[in-house]
Amino acid sequence: MKSVHRMMREFHTLISIVENDAEGMTELLNMIRQRKDTYSTTKKTVSNTDSSESRFERFVGKAPTEIRINPPKQAQTKGCRKRHIGAKEEAMEKAKKQVRECTKCGQKGHNIRTCKELSKNKTE
Ligand SMILES: [Zn+2]
Repeated sequence: MKSVHRMMREFHTLISIVENDAEGMTELLNMIRQRKDTYSTTKKTVSNTDSSESRFERFVGKAPTEIRINPPKQAQTKGCRKRHIGAKEEAMEKAKKQVRECTKCGQKGHNIRTCKELSKNKTE
């Protein structure tokens, strides 16, 4: 990696040297092209194994050819949710709906405390 950095620096200095020299620039460009051609033909396998892509493939396996990304689920905003009902509240709601049956006389609509039978007995 360090050698790559050094190479880049060398390139930059080289470019800055021939920056204002059109002839030198074309000469350098041709030189680079020539070098590139020779390297790409002779050292193809070497450069391929060193590329980050192949290193990645060696590490995690081949990348999928088809990438399918589904759209995200519809976000649920703070206010649109139904209020959470606790166990106690739920039991209370259920009890409200049921018609109470008196444990004293067995009739519906009242309980033992308001039972007419009991009050009758008391008064008797
Ligand atoms: Zn009763």
